[in-house]
Amino acid sequence: MKTYLADSKGFYGQFGGTFIPDILKPCIDELQEKYLEILNDPEFQEEYYSLLKDYVGRPSPLYLSKHLSQKCGCKIYLKREDLNHTGAHKINNTIGQILLAKRLSKTKIIAETGAGQHGVATATVCALMGMDCHIYMGKLDVERQHVNVQRMEMLGATVHPATSGSMTLKDAVDEAIAAWAKNPSEIYYLIGSTVGPHPYPDMVSRLQSIISKEIKQQLEEKEGRDYPDYLIACIGGGSNASGTVYHFVDDLRANIIFAEAGGKGVETGETAASISAGKEGILHGFKTLVMYDENGEIKEPYSISAGLDYPGIGPLPAHLAAEKRALVLAINDDEALKAAFELTEKEGIIPALESAHALAVLDRVTFKPEDVVVVTLSGRGDKDINTYLAERKRFI
Ligand SMILES: *Cc1c(COP(=O)(O)O)cnc(C)c1O
Repeated sequence: MKTYLADSKGFYGQFGGTFIPDILKPCIDELQEKYLEILNDPEFQEEYYSLLKDYVGRPSPLYLSKHLSQKCGCKIYLKREDLNHTGAHKINNTIGQILLAKRLSKTKIIAETGAGQHGVATATVCALMGMDCHIYMGKLDVERQHVNVQRMEMLGATVHPATSGSMTLKDAVDEAIAAWAKNPSEIYYLIGSTVGPHPYPDMVSRLQSIISKEIKQQLEEKEGRDYPDYLIACIGGGSNASGTVYHFVDDLRANIIFAEAGGKGVETGETAASISAGKEGILHGFKTLVMYDENGEIKEPYSISAGLDYPGIGPLPAHLAAEKRALVLAINDDEALKAAFELTEKEGIIPALESAHALAVLDRVTFKPEDVVVVTLSGRGDKDINTYLAERKRFI
């Protein structure tokens, strides 16, 4: 049977794979060799699922939104990843990778972070497991996301401001990789999304696939059938999206729609829409769609949502888009803001700005009355309060 998931070399069609400097080869070889055995080990699974249940608070509810259902004229369910410990889906992945790092006898964890959400999720599991934690973050982001920096420090992590390039996420990744290459035997690099060389995209997809596993069970209970007509998720690097579709990707009854960050509009150039505006290239060790400027340099992405502004995209969403298995819509800042205010006012749920991009898809698509739609609410919006307060008067 045809599958849209990764082959044994980590390729999704032409995307993914391993494109790394020789110095990182030993670390990546070790991971490639061992990750499936560790992830499938019953003892690993017992520890992972038990932490997801009692520490993260899973399963996350599948909530039927009355307001959105009425508005769209069909059933709209929200998969409530916002209710997880630390406020987003990212913890599903960090719990899994910290258990894996322990089994590889690593003592030091490094991670990159943009807005700080992955940094907080990593610092959290490092505190839980007593691991030495080092977070690389662009110097500009350190200044912009001060509260998350304080949370990481309170959790015991050391935050290293990246001062190269534009001093944002891409530079934080570059500096984390450089630190890793200096001491590969002790360090585990805990990547926060479905990006990087094989096996990271496949490994992170598997660790996030708990989302679609639960959706299947919850739809069976609520609807008497274990698939939806539509799955909708936002994509930054692609981890909540990959987790949302993982168990449905080869089931063509479930339509897939991804929302990438259009920013001020794809045509303005101020965008993070890597699928709409990107070209095939290599970024951070894998082949994907990358946004370049006119000089062929990697372009600084823009989105109102810090968690979506990455100049590339995970190989699974890139492949699903190329194969037309998924429809990808570039949702602009204002569409996301409108959707966020609507959910807040009508449902009493303040969504993360990232998740609001997925919600905005509902205004772009016409559904049939019998459709069952699941939108993944990847995180909560506490971190975005200042942006919301500044923009609110334009929307009410
Ligand atoms: C980080 C983040 C995202 C984007 O990351 P993906 O890997 O694409 O899921 C989306 N939503 C929230 C709430 C986030 O914190």
